Amino acid sequence: MNLAELNSVIKEETSAEEPSVIIASRPCVLLKGRAAISEPVEVDKESCINCGICLNLGCPAISRQGDKAQVTAIQCNGCGLCLQVCNKKALKKRGEGNA
Ligand code: SF4
Ligand code: SF4
Repeated sequence: MNLAELNSVIKEETSAEEPSVIIASRPCVLLKGRAAISEPVEVDKESCINCGICLNLGCPAISRQGDKAQVTAIQCNGCGLCLQVCNKKALKKRGEGNA
């Protein structure tokens, strides 16, 4: 999912004068039985500044542990949404260079 594109479409359609419908091209990744998209995400604790932006996504895999974000791997299906919002690049797919 391209988060910036989705936000743009929602803003455009909610400000339109006439009624409109937004149709997502794929079902929610959290639906039961959906296969993982890719490797789960991990948090680079050195890079995380605890800004909380990733927590605001509402993904159940992301929580706060002390003063850092954390991702519970078993709940993460690798959708990549959180990677698009972390300005510090503290979130990475497993095996792509995190501690
Ligand atoms: S968005 Fe990035 S820097 Fe901010 S809390 Fe999440 S992982 Fe940490
Ligand atoms: S990639 Fe990020 S947003 Fe997607 S399920 Fe995993 S932790 Fe949640």
